[in-house]
Amino acid sequence: MFEYAPAPESRSVVSIDSSYGLFIDGEFDAAKEGGVFKTVNPADEEVLAEVASAGPEDVDRAVAAARRAFPGWAALPGAERAKYLFRIARIIQERSRELAVLESLDNGKPIKESRDVDLPLVAAHFFYYAGWADKLPYAGFGPAPRPIGVAGQIVPWNFPLLMLAWKIAPALATGNTVVLKPAETTPLSALFFADVCRQAGLPPGVVNIVTGAGDTGAYLVAHPDVDKVAFTGSTEVGREIARTVAGTGKRLTLELGGKAANIVFDDAPIDQAVEGIVNGIFFNQGHVCCAGSRLLVQESVFDLVLESLKRRMATLRLGDPLDKNTDIGAINSAAQLARIKQLSEIGGQEGAERWSPPCELPDRGFWFAPTIFTGVTQAHRIAREEIFGPVLSVLTFRTPAEAIEKANNTPYGLSAGIWTEKGSRILAVADKLRAGVVWANTFNKFDPASPFGGYKESGYGREGGRHGLEAYLA
Ligand code: NAP
Ligand code: MG
Repeated sequence: MFEYAPAPESRSVVSIDSSYGLFIDGEFDAAKEGGVFKTVNPADEEVLAEVASAGPEDVDRAVAAARRAFPGWAALPGAERAKYLFRIARIIQERSRELAVLESLDNGKPIKESRDVDLPLVAAHFFYYAGWADKLPYAGFGPAPRPIGVAGQIVPWNFPLLMLAWKIAPALATGNTVVLKPAETTPLSALFFADVCRQAGLPPGVVNIVTGAGDTGAYLVAHPDVDKVAFTGSTEVGREIARTVAGTGKRLTLELGGKAANIVFDDAPIDQAVEGIVNGIFFNQGHVCCAGSRLLVQESVFDLVLESLKRRMATLRLGDPLDKNTDIGAINSAAQLARIKQLSEIGGQEGAERWSPPCELPDRGFWFAPTIFTGVTQAHRIAREEIFGPVLSVLTFRTPAEAIEKANNTPYGLSAGIWTEKGSRILAVADKLRAGVVWANTFNKFDPASPFGGYKESGYGREGGRHGLEAYLA
């Protein structure tokens, strides 16, 4: 096998301040009560920056700024709002190298992914929704659709900037103003985005960024002057938010967890399927809500698939996220690593067989080797719960009906994958899967024009596409 020389992207392409304030009304400002927290690079635990922690008073100020900005922003002709969104999209493209390095430093994801997946998709979302801004009367929501008002938006740490784009681009295109809270462990790209808004000349107050922990988010959700809440994160917090919002008249969309089945039929092109399995569970260290975390393999090709999968996994390169050859970066936080370890231990205790390729883990930082479990039954916790890490549970099936039944046997319903040569089988199976997205002979493909969202405990509402406009229109 080839050995690769180190090929590090330069970390000096992005400058990181030692401390950051909140972005309210177009200005960076310290938190009123002076609270701060640190964000670290999960690959080496180095502190990257100190960030302001927004308290209730700060959230009040941010919501008030968004409220003041709302009438003016909503009254702009769609073509004018589009100009700002196009400008933001172009600045993101121009500064994408800085942003990719920043995202990999703060999150731990491989530069290959932040550079080739996250950043192009972020820019594409802004371009896409810029295109809708002057066409809203033709979007199928009536001749004069109106914005809702102030949107409170909360995003997780797995795709910090991409989830921000999914939330902010449609909100602004439709004439809403926003207060967004990034995750505690990955605030830096959202603060960089605040600077992009300034560079684009966006009117003050249209976008406000409040950094902080869960209670900052809880306060934003409960704020009486927030008209719409959009949340991506865990089902547990999603439930709490639904309770808070119930009966208030606030609009709500929730994008929560998943436990997707990736189904390989015996006629599938095996090498291609193995690439899809690897992409499905090891992309972004498995920190993906739509990850293909349950592999369902038809019994007759089980040995063949497993052998190819193990061979392929042995070639995955784990290590420095800034190395351009890295496939698997760092786990985002100590807490997430502890959760992955705990569930993996339980997998072993419950009788599943664990396998990882030989894999050296760096001494510092948070790391987990790519792992598969075989002999998994549907009752096992590793088959039911979201691990949100590079851990695959492998199950088998004999007939298409059994595959469908097992795939749907989950409280979640976000995504699924089908691998087969037969087009008719793709259509027949996809039709019976209760999942918001079904990929056929591919996995983890995203496009701003395509709506994304879940069934059951994976949440409700759709982001992306024409459907994604609806959540921001009255
Ligand atoms: P989480 O707690 O749901 O965090 C998501 C976002 O919500 C973060 O910005 C978080 O802030 C904020 N938040 C936390 N408590 C809140 C509250 N009571 N009210 C309002 N906002 C609140 O998710 P996590 O702890 O990062 O991850 C836990 C599990 O969630 C993972 O293991 C995974 O299973 C799942 N998850 C799913 C997705 C997805 O894309 N569907 C993404 C991430 C995680 P802080 O960052 O400050 O806590
Ligand atoms: Mg961090």
